[in-house]
Amino acid sequence: MKIALFGKTGQVATEVQRRASGDVEVQTFDREQADFRDPDAISRLARSLDADAIINAVAYTAVEKAEVDKATADLVNHLSVRALAATAADRKIPLVHISTDYIFDGSGTQPRPPEAPASPLGVYGATKLAGEQAVRDCAGTYVILRTSWVFSAHGSNFLKTMLRLAKTHGSLRIVADQIGGPTPASAIAAATIDIARALSNGQSGGTYHFTGSPDASWSEFAREIFRQSGARVDVTDIATADYPTSARRPLNSCLDCESLARDFGVSRPDWRVALADVLKELGAT
Ligand code: NDP
Repeated sequence: MKIALFGKTGQVATEVQRRASGDVEVQTFDREQADFRDPDAISRLARSLDADAIINAVAYTAVEKAEVDKATADLVNHLSVRALAATAADRKIPLVHISTDYIFDGSGTQPRPPEAPASPLGVYGATKLAGEQAVRDCAGTYVILRTSWVFSAHGSNFLKTMLRLAKTHGSLRIVADQIGGPTPASAIAAATIDIARALSNGQSGGTYHFTGSPDASWSEFAREIFRQSGARVDVTDIATADYPTSARRPLNSCLDCESLARDFGVSRPDWRVALADVLKELGAT
């Protein structure tokens, strides 16, 4: 199976490349080869692809920066996604597109199923939602896979921030009223490859959720990072209101992942197990 992978350097894309083996051949496209600020260039490139499936792991993920650079976030998360999805649909190439819990407003306490109404709180979520809608409008074969709180040994993420802060701080105040599923990029990568294979074998797609289990608060995630890495850091729970940021974040990021297990046989991974692997890779245990 030939997979065209957009986003070579990101957390998820890096893991897709590491997991490609056997009959899976991955052709990557980085920012130089496929600049998502240029939807026409993405269309042209997509027309020339030789692939059985496409995985799009590109995104403008800088949540705060997106608030002041909406135009770029919209090009990358929406308009170029539309260009890619339209050409993929035209050429009948299945598309696996990754999206986010930030398309929801985070109200309530229950995990949200994929069909729950979307209502993003900020520009990042709004542009990602517009990208999702574009994929659905193009009516090709697709899976939109929403995930949350991604961590890996690469790039920037909460885990790496905590390890960095642990070097200089004996105590930290961490938000305890945002709840979600920390999700290993390695598990997302494995899921996207399995889904790409199923779609290219004729299975129908849709919108699905995939996050690590169990759901936790940021402070619980931090405590587990410090417990497993042996860092001596006291964590004090604080409220979101005590840590003001320009972009609002959902309080309840819990996603109901049942339909992905039912339709694709992909179950939620235990993020605490994957955390041990990532800490080992970082030499932080
Ligand atoms: P990263 O931020 O690690 O990677 C983003 C990728 O997008 C990088 O390869 C980056 O390239 C690329 N990119 C950004 N702008 C452009 C551009 N103009 N042209 C081409 N490439 C570009 O993201 P993740 O791997 O963490 O995220 C993967 C997916 O998961 C995304 O769809 C994201 O929305 C979603 N997601 C992520 C979450 C998280 O916590 N990180 C949570 C929920 C969903 P470069 O290195 O050159 O900048």
